[in-house]
Amino acid sequence: MKNILVTGGAGYIGSHTVVEMLNMNMNVVIVDNLRNSKEEALRRIEKITGIKPTFYKVDLLDRSALASVFRAEKFDAVVHFAGLKAVGESTQIPLSYYQNNVTGTLNLCELMIKHSVRNLVFSSSATVYGDPHKTPIKESFPRSATNPYGRTKLMIEEILQDLYDSDNAWNISLLRYFNPIGAHPSGMIGEDPNDIPNNLVPFISQVAIGKLNKLAVFGADYPTHDGTGVRDYIHVVDLAKGHIKALQKLSENPGIQAFNLGTGRGYSVLDIVSTFERVNKVKIPYETAGRRPGDIAVCYADASKAEKELGWRAELPLEDMCADTWRWQLQNPNGYE
Ligand code: NAD
Ligand code: UDP
Repeated sequence: MKNILVTGGAGYIGSHTVVEMLNMNMNVVIVDNLRNSKEEALRRIEKITGIKPTFYKVDLLDRSALASVFRAEKFDAVVHFAGLKAVGESTQIPLSYYQNNVTGTLNLCELMIKHSVRNLVFSSSATVYGDPHKTPIKESFPRSATNPYGRTKLMIEEILQDLYDSDNAWNISLLRYFNPIGAHPSGMIGEDPNDIPNNLVPFISQVAIGKLNKLAVFGADYPTHDGTGVRDYIHVVDLAKGHIKALQKLSENPGIQAFNLGTGRGYSVLDIVSTFERVNKVKIPYETAGRRPGDIAVCYADASKAEKELGWRAELPLEDMCADTWRWQLQNPNGYE
């Protein structure tokens, strides 16, 4: 797998994955409409790697523009990150989420068929497990969705299964990410939320730098060791490396397979706050608030399938996730602007 199309490659996880791909001497072509990212991320990728990836500012919903990309380039595989990802927003504008995520994927797959590209790595999410009946979560657990965003991921997984059933020449990796955090250790690329962050670690980071006053801890009455919600936080660089392993696996013709990409360890909200404070020598004021609707108590992966079948395991500890987040925030107080 040498020539790779990366949709959404200017985004948070995409940009980190492109860096790892360029480090492996892969030829990368990025397609991104920059709806939730900045072109500056691409310049930073070049600064880190010394290589400028080919970039097309194209929306997956624009079929003719996407078709031109497939005519101009040659691909062995596609890594498909492009999608809208905000759970709350998806409940406000569900049709946009279905249109963007589902129709975007259909357009992409149609062109892949037309150009005989049958290798795909798809960004799925642990959200497809809904409220899991137990933890750690295995790939074989039942799937369900609790919001439109999660339903787009579930629908796309099912569409890709149907596609594989219709033609076994496809090789598809459904990567179910747990909670990606952190940034590249250079501090040059990282997560750059447009508005007030919804996710825990970007929020903490903006409290630490003084842009936000204090963290609201959503729920302190969960059945966990300190009452706050537990998640499986994974360093974005480890996650990026999982995509390289998934691409390598596709060359063995594995068919369609789902993999959990997590560390297998759960940390509570207060664990994250105290580690961030300790590692970065900052104070994070917080107050306990009510539970956030739709949140579950505990979510962490059984990541043994990825270890056994992809030869991949998350290696970077929570301390590095917190230190790298903070370096990115300090070096880029206003993100990419
Ligand atoms: P991101 O928003 O930073 O990156 C997504 C990129 O896709 C952005 O650059 C955006 O501009 C682009 N994009 C969106 N719609 C597009 C379209 N129609 N055409 C072209 N480009 C388009 O998000 P991320 O955190 O890097 O997430 C990448 C993928 O991983 C998403 O599919 C997301 O749902 C999935 N995921 C993310 C998380 C997470 O916590 N970050 C967890 C699980 C799954
Ligand atoms: N959380 C919180 N305050 C915030 C944002 C998140 O207490 O401002 C909690 C949330 O309830 C959950 C955990 O932090 O227990 C991770 O939330 P995030 O939104 O980052 O990820 P997800 O809910 O998608 O797992």
